[in-house]
Amino acid sequence: MRRLAIGLALVLIGGAVSAEQFKPAKSSARPPAASAQAAKKASTKKTSTKKTAPKGPPAKLLFGAVSAPAPLAARAIGSYAKGCLAGGVSLPINGPDWQVMRLSRNRNWGTPQLLDYLERLASDARARDGWPGLLVGDMAQPRGGPMITGHSSHQIGLDADIWLTPMPDRILTPQEREDITATSMLKDPFNVDPEVFTTLQVKLIKRAASYPQVARIFVHPAIKKSLCEQAGKNRAWLGKVRPWWGHFYHFHVRLKCPPGMTTCQNQKPPSGDDGCGKELSNWYKTLRKAEIWAAARPAKPGAKPPPKKKQLTLGDLPKECATVLSAGGGAPEIAEDGTVPAVLKLPASKDAGPPAPHLDEAALEALKAEMSGKPSAKPTTEAASAAGSMPLPDRKPH
Ligand SMILES: [Zn+2]
Repeated sequence: MRRLAIGLALVLIGGAVSAEQFKPAKSSARPPAASAQAAKKASTKKTSTKKTAPKGPPAKLLFGAVSAPAPLAARAIGSYAKGCLAGGVSLPINGPDWQVMRLSRNRNWGTPQLLDYLERLASDARARDGWPGLLVGDMAQPRGGPMITGHSSHQIGLDADIWLTPMPDRILTPQEREDITATSMLKDPFNVDPEVFTTLQVKLIKRAASYPQVARIFVHPAIKKSLCEQAGKNRAWLGKVRPWWGHFYHFHVRLKCPPGMTTCQNQKPPSGDDGCGKELSNWYKTLRKAEIWAAARPAKPGAKPPPKKKQLTLGDLPKECATVLSAGGGAPEIAEDGTVPAVLKLPASKDAGPPAPHLDEAALEALKAEMSGKPSAKPTTEAASAAGSMPLPDRKPH
């Protein structure tokens, strides 16, 4: 039964619409990985093994099957969405002010710098902002690399997901860490719920962005909008906080390459403005279109998955990632049919968050009418507000 479930999961993986993979056709916002890939293209031509490497199984099966780190000096190798991790260290599952969630995934690995950052953030947020502790979601796999579920980045030990749910005042059992679902911060597809997304979360994200080693933080556009509204005069940190799909129950921290780590490729830094103007209103345009598309093509069980993205093979990753994979005899066995048996034995785990909210029928009709330029037959205030007709309305708290 479990095997069947895993097999099914694997079939679905290619089409899984993950937060960081879903790209609307005409998003004017740049995907987080895009600039890193562009930078890499220019700088790593000489190290590409594309021509000579035989095509093996998708790299996500190989890296997903490895349960221990590569016994090498700690280094992030490659770029956030195309790389691997040497000498990964694991974040202890319980700290003074954090707990790791979904232990079965074995994704609490990173560079020592990522661990230092998380420990410092957890401690500062509790001591200075009253945040009770971090619930830490996915970081990287023991040797980094692509994952069989959920992310296109998180490959080099410098990315971490942090839940926006406050940590309970007790140590969760391993089973609870599998079962608990993170809390959505959204009231509807375009707005946070101010009773859930409070000043506590605002302070946490601000704190997380405030350290110089942070390159970017990803949050849902509605969270970005709320941060823009609440930031006040000190707005320098806001430029690092970027809208991205799916981040409505967690935020994603991405650290810069640690100084001197020459194998690691930085992403182009954000432009420097606070991102609350045109960029955010463009996101809202895309968000509205995406809502209409989602309604036109509801995800039904058994529905045909969207077209598969090209799967990265080991040959697509920096050359050193082959060494990382095999160091200490760690490379998994590949069966004759090209499958990786160890992956089939991995337990399936529950999604960390709830499904994204969608508009009800009345709100959807109002949105369609607004987007087609015709007045809706029965525009309700609620529908109009849910449709986000103004990108940055002055909304009163409840
Ligand atoms: Zn993430």
